[in-house]
Amino acid sequence: MVTFFAKTLNFLKDLCFPLTCCCCGEFVDTEGLCPNCWKQIKWISEPKCRICGLPFEIDCEGVCADCLSQKPYFDRAVSVFEYNDVSKKIVLKFKNGDTTYIAGLLASWMYRSAKDMFAKADIIIPVPIHFWKRLKRKYNQAELLARELSNISGVKYGPDLLKKSKGNETARRIEPQTKIKKFIRFFRNDRKHV
Ligand SMILES: [Zn+2]
Ligand SMILES: [Zn+2]
Repeated sequence: MVTFFAKTLNFLKDLCFPLTCCCCGEFVDTEGLCPNCWKQIKWISEPKCRICGLPFEIDCEGVCADCLSQKPYFDRAVSVFEYNDVSKKIVLKFKNGDTTYIAGLLASWMYRSAKDMFAKADIIIPVPIHFWKRLKRKYNQAELLARELSNISGVKYGPDLLKKSKGNETARRIEPQTKIKKFIRFFRNDRKHV
């Protein structure tokens, strides 16, 4: 009897809220991407730079020429997929709030790409956005991902440890390295013991 009700409820849910591809909107059987979008994703795997995480075209180990010529302001970065029309759409739709329900799916992809980093991590802190921006948008996409990543990895989640103290409008027009320096200044740590 319980199974019958569960099946009926699932049927009604699928009828009223059918699953759609988080990129193109096609109907799908399981949450995520349709086969057509899936095959266009260029997943990043080894070989890749051990600092910036960008893929090497040939099979070699170590650090890419860009990171060698100018050491980045971070120790390590990891990317899940290459930036193309499909991945751009997935990211923008998530960022703009159309597909916040896929936070868990995106987090599982991120975790798969950086399992070793999570094994060594003490805490996951989302990049904050300014108070007014958050109020307008009603959510911070980095928080959604960080919470899901914490659930998957078991690493502690620290949502309120950083605060964005300034807007970043002028930072959009500057070079990435300078932007990172400026962004670091924009974030203030709210708790002195961290
Ligand atoms: Zn699709
Ligand atoms: Zn690199």
